[in-house]
Amino acid sequence: MRIAIIGGGLTGLTAAYALAGKHSVVVFEKDKDLGGMAGSYIVDWDGKKWSISKTYHHILNGDETTKNMIKSLGLDSKLHWKKVKQGFIYNDKIYGFSTLTEILKFPLPLADKIRLAKFVLFGTKKKDWSVLEGVNAKDWIIKEAGQRNFDVFFDQLIRNKFHEPAENISASWVGTRFVKESSSFLKSFGWLEGGISQIVYGLAEGIKNRGGKIFTDTKVISIKNEKQKKLIYEKNGLKKQLIFDVIVSTVAPEVILNLVDKLPEDVERQLRKIRYLSCICMTAGLKKEFTDRYWMNVLDKDKPFSAVFNHTALYEDAAPAGKSVFFVATYLMRDEPLWKKSDEEIKNIYVEALNKILPGFKYNIEWWRIFKIEYAEAIYRTGFINPPMFTDGLYFAGIYRIYPKIRNMSSAMEEGLAVAAKIEENVKNV
Ligand SMILES: Cc1cc2nc3c(=O)[nH]c(=O)nc-3n(C[C@H](O)[C@H](O)[C@H](O)COP(=O)(O)OP(=O)(O)OC[C@H]3O[C@@H](n4cnc5c(N)ncnc54)[C@H](O)[C@@H]3O)c2cc1C
Repeated sequence: MRIAIIGGGLTGLTAAYALAGKHSVVVFEKDKDLGGMAGSYIVDWDGKKWSISKTYHHILNGDETTKNMIKSLGLDSKLHWKKVKQGFIYNDKIYGFSTLTEILKFPLPLADKIRLAKFVLFGTKKKDWSVLEGVNAKDWIIKEAGQRNFDVFFDQLIRNKFHEPAENISASWVGTRFVKESSSFLKSFGWLEGGISQIVYGLAEGIKNRGGKIFTDTKVISIKNEKQKKLIYEKNGLKKQLIFDVIVSTVAPEVILNLVDKLPEDVERQLRKIRYLSCICMTAGLKKEFTDRYWMNVLDKDKPFSAVFNHTALYEDAAPAGKSVFFVATYLMRDEPLWKKSDEEIKNIYVEALNKILPGFKYNIEWWRIFKIEYAEAIYRTGFINPPMFTDGLYFAGIYRIYPKIRNMSSAMEEGLAVAAKIEENVKNV
């Protein structure tokens, strides 16, 4: 069978990896580089080349598919686990939140901290989140953790992460997301020596070795959804077309809706309703190490970013000795003023705010990059239902149809494997 896969991110590459060899597979990626959100680039720094991911990327203990893929790509010996420290940025200061002493020092009454600890510990033991289906995150958190914990922590954390007030967001989604992350702090975070680009390149090499093709810098611009599917793409300003039996879309619903000529009305309606958050992520290479924290969530309402990551506190091989790499990320909607600003303007806004929290930050930057990710994460409002994987001859895979799982490399690769299995199942039944 001739199979086209739109998108060379982890979902598309994993699907192609599973299908190549058995079918004639072509991956279409609009960017020059593969990897999408999990893409990387090389920085020349102090006479050496460093592979840096476009955004922070850690591996959590429960990310089974990521761990399995790392193993199957022969990268197992490079996967390391490390206990990392977290903190909160509150009133322009970093408050550690990893040890009992640190937690006791956080400016909040003891009774609230005990309630917060119970809430997190109870959540880490919870297996079935479906009982919270239809409940909103605000009601659930206030009931379980109390009003003050909601006001100081969760109200802002939810706005930072989901960009919606907590009353609009599904409690089961917040539960799986925060609890998975909080429970990982109790254990260890995974990092891949040499960088996560090796997963992307490993998959790409596997696809090619199995006879699959990968076209980068090649944008799919339209699809005629007939029995023989006509896919039109653009490369170097030239438009060309190819015919396929099967097309797999791993791109955001808004993108595929603009490409395909016809879809069943109910599916189109469902896809059209799915909203995405965008993300701006600045990476800065710094002359020195500023903190031993890895992850710093922002509780201050006036900050232009949602979270700060000290990449080198986890990835020990990501900078020259004594130097460090920081990620600064904001989740936002595309109609917000920050999204429209130039890279230089965004960098200046971030650096001014960071300099108050980490004095001297602005004088220690050796290089920086800004990445704008248009479709970073689907927003799961209460009552969200995943759209189908297969309809009318087209397959849909990607991080918008994984609710209530969290969006990460693992869920993207699971989607890639699931769509490949669905194609095989349908082939058998024909
Ligand atoms: C800020 C941030 C931090 C993250 N941190 C972590 C983390 O710590 N740990 C973790 O496990 N995961 C993390 N993730 C999530 C992880 O990166 C994603 O879940 C995963 O990479 C999604 O892969 P995907 O293939 O579904 O989507 P994408 O990576 O978006 O891939 C889709 C691809 O389709 C391409 N495309 C779009 N339109 C077209 C077209 N018309 N023609 C051809 N190609 C097209 C795009 O260029 C893109 O490459 C993070 C993501 C972000 C944004």
